Amino acid sequence: MSKTGGLASESRIDNLWWKAWGATMKVAYFSMEIGLNENIPTYSGGLGILAGDHIKSCADLNIPLVAVTLLYKRGYFIQRINVRGEQEEFYPYFDPRPFMEQLPFKVTIKIKGRDVNISVWKYHQQGIRGRVPVYFLDTDLPINHPEDRGITHYLYGGDSHTRLCQEAVLGIGGYLALKRLEPGITTYHMNEGHACFLTLALLRDAGGMESRVREQCIFTTHTPVPAGHDRFDYPLAQAVLGEYLPANIRALAGQDELNTTILALNLSRASNGVSELHGKVSRQMFPGYDIGHVTNGVHHLSWTGPEFQTLFDHHIPEWREQPQALSKARDLSDEAILSAKAGAKRRLISYVNAISGAGFSEQFLTICFARRAAVYKRATLIFADLEYLLNLSHDRVQYIFAGKAHPKDAEGKKLIREVSELGIRYEDRLRFVFVPNYNIWLGALMTQGTDIWLNTPRRPREACGTSGMKVCFNGGVNMSVLDGWWREGCRDRVNGWAVGDDEDQSDEAAAADLYRDLDDLVTTFYAAPKQWVSIMKNSIADLTPVFNTQRMVLEYLHKYYQ
Ligand SMILES: *Cc1c(COP(=O)(O)O)cnc(C)c1O
Repeated sequence: MSKTGGLASESRIDNLWWKAWGATMKVAYFSMEIGLNENIPTYSGGLGILAGDHIKSCADLNIPLVAVTLLYKRGYFIQRINVRGEQEEFYPYFDPRPFMEQLPFKVTIKIKGRDVNISVWKYHQQGIRGRVPVYFLDTDLPINHPEDRGITHYLYGGDSHTRLCQEAVLGIGGYLALKRLEPGITTYHMNEGHACFLTLALLRDAGGMESRVREQCIFTTHTPVPAGHDRFDYPLAQAVLGEYLPANIRALAGQDELNTTILALNLSRASNGVSELHGKVSRQMFPGYDIGHVTNGVHHLSWTGPEFQTLFDHHIPEWREQPQALSKARDLSDEAILSAKAGAKRRLISYVNAISGAGFSEQFLTICFARRAAVYKRATLIFADLEYLLNLSHDRVQYIFAGKAHPKDAEGKKLIREVSELGIRYEDRLRFVFVPNYNIWLGALMTQGTDIWLNTPRRPREACGTSGMKVCFNGGVNMSVLDGWWREGCRDRVNGWAVGDDEDQSDEAAAADLYRDLDDLVTTFYAAPKQWVSIMKNSIADLTPVFNTQRMVLEYLHKYYQ
């Protein structure tokens, strides 16, 4: 269990105290993707949604922060599954005008020696006590070269050349935009290495003084998977970034390749990973750097569904301003918890039945698995012994899966095909539906409605994970490998189920543990309803007070922002 001491007192909010902070600090938060709500499709998954939740909790607490990201007019993509179970991608046009305001000026940066004009759109994220401006950068302007207009069209869609141009727009363009819009920034927070070229813009303004840049920057790394750290060939970097590259770039960003993580680490005064284990793994990956950790959270007001909002408002009204008050959830009556859960589950099951015709029932134990279809997340682990699963599940358990594969990830796409084929092949023996187009809206519906949230990553690849936290705010229960946040929060069989123990396991060992836990869980659900409700309550009371972004941004404030 993670240390929660001191949180309650730190979080007691005093308006004047916050105003005093405002006078001495102002944070600029840079993120390649930000996911705020279902209307603005400028995110792909966990990283963007975390950024959105970070912003929302800062707005709630009136922490002085402004955010910068890119405006993708063709977003990530809409996923459909065809009759062969294959993922197909669609990129509809997104019109930002109903949601944000285009500011009447442009900033210009040089990419490949050519002027690229950048327009800035302003969005306001309203919170309880304040609001945070979010600036979206857009190169899709008639005055730009046709090739440059496309820089901000697609999120993670292009080749490494496009990616480099995007990161230049974010870091350098974003810096110039803020210089005009938000004087007095005291800390630049790079959310992932994508934002690292910000340091090159700062370096120019500091006359090459690295220590001056380092004083102003902090950096959060988000993945222990090597492919998640962008690297660029120096000839490409030279061609695209030209004059922005300092003469000693290889000393700052790596000898052989420009490594965005190394550049960010070298020019930040502090760096962190996103869970205790991820902090440790990051220190091993990047020896010589002082990397701490702040465990991620979720924005409590965004992810708690209407049923539990009503319940908490009634019995624990202070939860809106102080989510740690949800530690009192153990005092709620069994009936109230079960009735809120039933309402949320009904919404999920109705949707699944409406789009699939599968005839799912509110009475059955429901297990959800939804996340990016990456191989290390092992979506098919639960099918390792199909006969066993079919017997265990028969007329007792129903499964809802979702998740997108990156359009260029053949392995991930194969996983989706395998999973949806299983559903079709065993349609009369296994209650299984793959719901297409996992996004912020479907993520909310699933995390609110499910009984069990399953997660079986290969340790320690899941840096933190946040979807399971959303489940806790809605009386759901996690069954997961002890990776990322769950390693810090899990009390096995008390507030959820731990698959395996605090060690790295082979797939075979993990599958065996998973089946043992599933057996136990199904028995508890049907044969010991009292115990089940007490696990639901512990899931809320133990976990939501800690794994929320209010606790997280206060930790950033105290450790890194001041
Ligand atoms: C919360 C969320 C995520 C992040 O969840 P993980 O636990 O990191 O997989 C990703 N995508 C969507 C749509 C989400 O709502």
